[in-house]
Amino acid sequence: MQSSKKDYYEVLGVSRNATQEEIKKAYRRLARKYHPDFNKDPSAEEKFKEINEAYQVLSDPEKRKLYDQYGHTAFQGAGGGGYEQWDIFETIEDLFRGFGFEEVFERRGRRQAQKRPVKGEDIYQTVELTLEEAYSGKVVSVPVLREVPCPVCDGYGYDRSKGERTCPTCGGRGAVYQRQFFISISQTCPTCKGEGMLREPCGKCGGKGTIPNREEIKVRIPPGVDNGSRVFVEGKGHAGFYGGPAGDLYLLIKVKPHHLFERRGDNLYLDVSVKLTEAIMGGELEVPTLTGERIKVKIPSGTKDGDTVRVEGRGMPRLRGSGFGDLILRIHIDIPKLGFVDKVFGDGRRIKQLLEELDRLLPEPQRIKTRQP
Ligand SMILES: [Zn+2]
Ligand SMILES: [Zn+2]
Repeated sequence: MQSSKKDYYEVLGVSRNATQEEIKKAYRRLARKYHPDFNKDPSAEEKFKEINEAYQVLSDPEKRKLYDQYGHTAFQGAGGGGYEQWDIFETIEDLFRGFGFEEVFERRGRRQAQKRPVKGEDIYQTVELTLEEAYSGKVVSVPVLREVPCPVCDGYGYDRSKGERTCPTCGGRGAVYQRQFFISISQTCPTCKGEGMLREPCGKCGGKGTIPNREEIKVRIPPGVDNGSRVFVEGKGHAGFYGGPAGDLYLLIKVKPHHLFERRGDNLYLDVSVKLTEAIMGGELEVPTLTGERIKVKIPSGTKDGDTVRVEGRGMPRLRGSGFGDLILRIHIDIPKLGFVDKVFGDGRRIKQLLEELDRLLPEPQRIKTRQP
């Protein structure tokens, strides 16, 4: 297991002689990018752990020295290079402070509620589209279960008409003290949870300040979206707290596979078959497009099996920039078997005669190809 571990420097993307400052900087950037509270990608958590493990070692000059000398084997065995969940969140908390991410830690319930504005949580929803819909864009109606401010208590969580009273347990201090030997240990007051005040919780929301509300949110999906595209709707996530803004809504786009067209970036691929004679003489094919319109495409004389013919501007609309991708026809030459022609068309003898005549007339190819030096 240990041998498959990634190099700690690689994980943080720094050189082996990076300064402590550079290591810290790289770590801050990556930790914010992959923190499971901000990155909903399922692999983010694993990555986040990796980053933390690397940082725990490289940020400590002693451990770093050991790692430089012995690699991962330096930390094999008990406690080796491992990280303590608790420690990490302490570190992370420091890192995020001042970035407007304080709410994350409040959500964890580790920190007593502070009365500063907190942004609501984001909502992630998947939207499935057909390729045609991805082509033209679409206004979708997305069902979302959002937490909205409680209409009874206006989001306060308690009945303001009944007022507040001082917590009898702690006398309003929010903490209780316990004497042990010669020192006195302070603990968050269990009755008021550190608030110092007791209030009558709102009957409607039970003190939460928000209630779940089912809504249909109309969102315009722009033309050209692809699998994995994200459409962002500001303020349509869960309600914020203490006057903070609501979170945002992210729509993750999934495009269903099409029965004719294969999409690659902005281009569309279509497999078509041509007759042997068409491949030799060239011809014109009528092919479908994604808009439903059928178009005529010229096949040049001498087309080989596997050749492609490009029709400019008939692919997907470009999400960024303007214009369209191309439609690319992948040509397959239908080569019939004589017996089969015989059975199906009943005129195999005539076809055979013509082929034999053709065979006499066609120039002799260079049978054995010389290789290019
Ligand atoms: Zn109290
Ligand atoms: Zn309420």
